[in-house]
Amino acid sequence: MQQIAVVGAGLFGRLLALRLARLDYRVSLYEKDDLDATGSAGYVAAAMLAPYAEACTASPLVIQLGIDSLELWPGILEDLPEPVFFQRQGSLIVAHSQDRGDYQNFVRRVQHKLGHMHLDNVLEPCDSRQLQSYEPELAKRFQQGLFIKGEGQLDNRALYRATRQALELNQIESLTGTRVEQMGDGYVASNHGQQRYDTVIDCRGIGAKKDIPGLRGVRGEVIRMHAPEVNLTRPVRLMHPRYPLYIVPRPGREYIIGATEIESEDTSNISVRSTLELLTAAYSLHSGFAEARILETLVGTRPALPDNEPRILIGHRHLQVNGLYRHGYLVSPALLNEVAGVLGAKSLDDYPSTSRFPELFQPMEAIENDNSCDHQRSAV
Ligand SMILES: Cc1cc2nc3c(=O)[nH]c(=O)nc-3n(C[C@H](O)[C@H](O)[C@H](O)COP(=O)(O)OP(=O)(O)OC[C@H]3O[C@@H](n4cnc5c(N)ncnc54)[C@H](O)[C@@H]3O)c2cc1C
Repeated sequence: MQQIAVVGAGLFGRLLALRLARLDYRVSLYEKDDLDATGSAGYVAAAMLAPYAEACTASPLVIQLGIDSLELWPGILEDLPEPVFFQRQGSLIVAHSQDRGDYQNFVRRVQHKLGHMHLDNVLEPCDSRQLQSYEPELAKRFQQGLFIKGEGQLDNRALYRATRQALELNQIESLTGTRVEQMGDGYVASNHGQQRYDTVIDCRGIGAKKDIPGLRGVRGEVIRMHAPEVNLTRPVRLMHPRYPLYIVPRPGREYIIGATEIESEDTSNISVRSTLELLTAAYSLHSGFAEARILETLVGTRPALPDNEPRILIGHRHLQVNGLYRHGYLVSPALLNEVAGVLGAKSLDDYPSTSRFPELFQPMEAIENDNSCDHQRSAV
């Protein structure tokens, strides 16, 4: 039985450890914190699964991985020991009159990108009557919007809880409180010594910064609220001149308001400015947020490569999966299949040429020479 070390029990690492255990690998999962991984980006995320709305700035690779992943999530969730809220009720885009220009630009860009991919049938421009049928509580304030069919969301907290339990049930060796200092070529060196494995897979997110040239962190802030007077049933994006804000419903009238997108790796508490912007946006969308209770504010760091695309970097008995940026939930299921494909091939570098997504792969040293630094694409 092959022995694999997965380093990082954030979003991707915990899902990967479970997948590999099911494929009969013997898995050791390293995490510097505990299995709740509250410091990971995945713990903070809104967990929208929105390949079409993201098309405004995301590449065709991310869009296609996202579309595939939407179909794959139910199978992943079915295997978990407790239920995780997941739905595909679509999402809505709306704008106040002063942001109409941003809205029209957004819609044009999404239409253009999806049109090229022959995917424009998922977009449904709405008047107030149609808005009324999707989200009755928004119809008074907004006369117009864009409904995007088939997009989804899940409850990331429930996913973290259920995967934690599954890791324990599958007898995956969890080396928590273990900060990995170095790894490569079938070895892992941590504050608890050095171990050898058949393959080592680095899923440290922004924690891999010193080992992946060009990897940067993008700060994101969100607010979690309980709003009994608001009844929204699907994610709603509100156009904003600085970043696309969203309000994502969770079971029990909880809502995640997010997210800022700031080119910074500062992980200190949410700023006054961001708090004002997020809460103002929520209140401007629905006055019922006035009496909501703030449960929590959260800050996370999205791990991003220069082109804002995910990569699987291939070395000798060593893989790095990183650059999931603002799309970790969106693309992880498809990426899990790709990593399983690499491990199942005769040698690690045999697989990429047969993959549907050859552009996902790069030899580890090649990333150093990639100077296509266009992360401005993230700005909407
Ligand atoms: C505010 C915000 C909103 C988001 N919203 C969405 C969304 O709606 N939809 C979507 O698809 N994505 C979203 N994302 C993005 C998503 O959360 C990330 O893409 C994803 O979490 C990245 O996964 P990862 O496993 O690579 O990194 P992480 O989830 O950050 O996990 C990395 C793990 O590695 C551990 N680690 C680091 N260094 C070490 C070390 N030296 N030794 C041992 N362990 C280590 C960390 O403790 C952590 O647990 C959002 C992110 C943020 C911040």
